[in-house]
Amino acid sequence: MNISDAAYQKCINPDCGAEFDCGQSFFKCPKCGELLDIRYDWEKLPVPAKLSDFSKRWASRDERLDFSGVWRFRELLSFCQDKYKVSIGEGQTILEENSKVGEYAGMRPGRLFLQYEGLNPSGSFKDNGMTAAFSHAKMVGAGSCACASTGNTSASMSLYAHRCGLKSTVFIGSGRIAFGKLSQAMDYGAQTIQIRGDFDDCMRQVQGVCTKLGLYLLNSLNPFRLEGQKTIMYRIVEQMGWSVPDWIAVPGGNLGNSSAFGKAFEELRGLGLIAKVPRIAIINATGADTLTDLVNNKKLAWNGGRVEQKIIDDYYADLTARGFSPHTCASAIEISRPVNLKKCLRTIDICDGIVRAVTDEAICDAKAIVGKYGLGCEPASAASIAGLKHLVAEGVIGSDERVACVLTGHPLKDPNVTVSYHKDGQGQFSNRPIEAPNDLDEILKLIK
Ligand SMILES: [Zn+2]
Repeated sequence: MNISDAAYQKCINPDCGAEFDCGQSFFKCPKCGELLDIRYDWEKLPVPAKLSDFSKRWASRDERLDFSGVWRFRELLSFCQDKYKVSIGEGQTILEENSKVGEYAGMRPGRLFLQYEGLNPSGSFKDNGMTAAFSHAKMVGAGSCACASTGNTSASMSLYAHRCGLKSTVFIGSGRIAFGKLSQAMDYGAQTIQIRGDFDDCMRQVQGVCTKLGLYLLNSLNPFRLEGQKTIMYRIVEQMGWSVPDWIAVPGGNLGNSSAFGKAFEELRGLGLIAKVPRIAIINATGADTLTDLVNNKKLAWNGGRVEQKIIDDYYADLTARGFSPHTCASAIEISRPVNLKKCLRTIDICDGIVRAVTDEAICDAKAIVGKYGLGCEPASAASIAGLKHLVAEGVIGSDERVACVLTGHPLKDPNVTVSYHKDGQGQFSNRPIEAPNDLDEILKLIK
């Protein structure tokens, strides 16, 4: 069977609902301009009767696709044939129960779980999406690709591009990218174009460039990327013994992850593979809190797919009129016009989700705690911990509930924030280096 026959693209706008086969490449619905989803005729696909059937693949890890933490679940994202599937060993990530970080957030022992997506080959969760999108790019015969990026996307895209033999171009905002990430894009051979503007400006420009030059777009507008990102949730459920946590906490930037997570759980529930969906907490930084403002203050909601566009248009017009540009040390979520906004609203609907914003100070303190008691993470990732602490204090999340926080990127992605925090004594958990004279006795006095 040609598995791609069972998958198709579908516009999320219920008043349009246009459908397209997966052999085509769009980044928006060609009929109405809305976002596209990948949908499946599940009855045509060999979906396992229970999730634990996927465990068998651990015994065949010498098989390329069984080794991948994304393609191990390939029956749940069957949009292309195996021969097109690209893998560089993505998704070998772990879920760690961490009571020390949990205690910081106000949780009881054994209730907080950290999903370390920084363990991916390029150091962030993006590899989950890129392996899927590049498989599609190969299926449609793309020769060149591009993305706008705050950093992690560019690193992941350029890594996969050179493995697939595609030319790649990344668009970054001037001065708005962490050096660890920029170094990766340059090292992996991408053409890097620094635009005088922020991420939202880059996002607009890259769509224009891709349209004019026919490049394959790898931002999370690309619905195939989100199919790969669903697997982060499968791995959490897998590592919890095929059970679902009470809550997922995730940083909110361009909202691709939260969009993918809601879709993942909705599909699993629809297939009868899980009995309940978890609730989701999406955490913005206060300097880039469009989602928080729109959902909590402007009451923007999914509304069966009929989102009130005027609220969004008015909000963005106001940002433009004020010359607003987002600012947060968590550069990966420094985004004020999130492209997946509507899909994220759908996730909030599916998962009874909530949205909060946390300060840079709270993010940096939480990051230091994840470093001290866990495996470390980049600043944006720590927003999930800072948000959890906030929500436990608020009484929204109970200290006895099981919470999985998604830590999206590796600590070495943004060493500047880490060094400043510790070296300059910026926070309550700063761990400053001590200067010592070049003298053994004096040095011995300093060792505790
Ligand atoms: Zn449409």
